[in-house]
Amino acid sequence: MPDIIQLLPDHLANQIAAGEVIQRPASAVKELLENAIDAGATEIQLIIKDAGKELIQVVDNGKGMTPMDARMSFERHATSKIRHIDDLFSIRTMGFRGEALASIAAVAQVDLKTRPHQEEIGTHLVIEASEVLKQEPAACPPGTSFAIRNLFYNVPARRKFLKSNTSEYKHIIDEFTRVAMAYPHIAFRLFHNNTEQFRLSAGNQKTRIVELLGNKVEKTLVPVEEDTELLRIHGFIGKPESATRTRGNQFFFINGRFIRNAYLHHAVATAFEGLIDKEAFPFYVLFLELDPQRVDVNVHPTKQEVKFDDDRLMYAYLQSTVKHALARFNIAPALDFTLDTEIQNMEALRLPQSPAQKDSTREGYLYQSFSQGGKAHFLEKSDDRQQWNTQREKLFTPLPSLPEIPSAHDTTGGKAQSELSFSEGADHQQPVLQWRDYLISTMKSGLLIMHQKRALERIQYERLLERINHEHTVTQQLLFPATLQLSPADAALLEELLPFLRKLGYDISPFGSHTYAVQGAPPDVPAGREQVLLEEILEQLKHEAQLKDQRQEKLLRTMAKRMAQPTLLATEAAAALIDELFACAQPQYTPDGARVFTVLPREGLENLL
Ligand code: ADP
Ligand code: MG
Repeated sequence: MPDIIQLLPDHLANQIAAGEVIQRPASAVKELLENAIDAGATEIQLIIKDAGKELIQVVDNGKGMTPMDARMSFERHATSKIRHIDDLFSIRTMGFRGEALASIAAVAQVDLKTRPHQEEIGTHLVIEASEVLKQEPAACPPGTSFAIRNLFYNVPARRKFLKSNTSEYKHIIDEFTRVAMAYPHIAFRLFHNNTEQFRLSAGNQKTRIVELLGNKVEKTLVPVEEDTELLRIHGFIGKPESATRTRGNQFFFINGRFIRNAYLHHAVATAFEGLIDKEAFPFYVLFLELDPQRVDVNVHPTKQEVKFDDDRLMYAYLQSTVKHALARFNIAPALDFTLDTEIQNMEALRLPQSPAQKDSTREGYLYQSFSQGGKAHFLEKSDDRQQWNTQREKLFTPLPSLPEIPSAHDTTGGKAQSELSFSEGADHQQPVLQWRDYLISTMKSGLLIMHQKRALERIQYERLLERINHEHTVTQQLLFPATLQLSPADAALLEELLPFLRKLGYDISPFGSHTYAVQGAPPDVPAGREQVLLEEILEQLKHEAQLKDQRQEKLLRTMAKRMAQPTLLATEAAAALIDELFACAQPQYTPDGARVFTVLPREGLENLL
């Protein structure tokens, strides 16, 4: 086997962003795991002692190194992965700077055993603080084992700076998770203090995610798959109910490399808009594969940040891919697929396609949306809407024709209602049962079970939204105006909310210091609750830190929640409520992402009996 490692010329070395590669045990873990993957390993073991402070060892069955390469691998800017500056722009391996091993060897005691598969005998190399203490032939299995002991032993300041074992070990788990997630066809094992923590056999993407994140995520995974000539996006998103209050389960990989990117995160988060709470984090594991020429991984030394050729295009692709996946699995009806017209007119979207590429991407939604220049997206929109309607027709047996919903409530706009109504033309009576918190009705395919309060919340939220967006303000003047006496802080909050409250129908005017007169309220606020509701809203909002531009959304949600008061309903009113829910843009979830209804299919029932 020929020697393959060469020193990078200085000028090239300087073109590579320099930086601190090793900050903590987890950084060494990441570099060693990536090297094993680059070496073509199919089985990788990570052995940790004392959260990596005592030992970090990675054993792989990859291609191994010759004695010369073993020695060279510790030189700064020694790499087998780039030869020319052009290579920098088409990197497909994980590592490429040739800095990692040199940096590690400078601050630890390193023990390397390595053997190429075709060689009989391997190499044993011991290095401490960049000094080679031993290099000799040795018997060892094919592949490579790097053992890093006592990281920062010669840099006491750094060693002292290490966090508690719990914290350092958590960083290690994070790195291990990211690498193992991206390479499901590679088997991984992780040992900590002689106990096996993970044993991941080679498998598919879904199994790997579940093995890493726990069985609870399995049910929530919604597959994502879009292919265009520019970009392939695949992976999984979580259903809205799996969104969490804290970040953690958000994974982006660009060409197999884990990255953080607030902009791309925003694209996904906005695709979930209206399905989950604004402050909640949707679950996702998304792989973006694109031509390496279009992405610059060289902007940050630890390579977790990237720059794209065309950020806005990536954003638009990603957002519509996620929206589409949600729509396809009926989590959100794709009624409001509006793409920025500017995005649709971008140069890159009109690139010519080769016939082969065309074939492979023709099926993809993105292809249809983008490559036909604007038109396709409108076709898609009506298709989706039609699909949703047919699906709903299939789902529901007709309900009786309903009495008009009282006009004060009918602010969602009669048009949307009649367009979407599934009760049209029906003439036979369908029973609606009210049991505890639920409304239960029959459909062609099974039983519809709906949470009444949540349904009201969704309906109320969309009414309020409609009012605020289209300024359909309706005010009911109060017979006995109320006065609100507030603390200075509450008064300041109320001042901020006043423009929104007025659009929603509140008639409020200042009345001396920190005091306000409430003279009118939205007609659907129950009589006598006008003032209490305001107080409740202030109480709720002042305890939640939020950005200014989230005020309106928070206000709407809080109001919708407070106004959604379940009551005992006559059959007709219950049927009307069901109908009104399905006239909503997103009937399946409350604005906070709780499920509103479920359908128990007939077969499911039969299985129960
Ligand atoms: P880089 O990965 O950026 O090239 P490193 O310092 O991480 O730089 O590694 C230097 C070189 O050592 C690599 O280019 C590779 O040729 C070799 N190497 C490192 N780890 C392994 C391994 N586990 N198996 C085979 N070769 C390895
Ligand atoms: Mg490397």
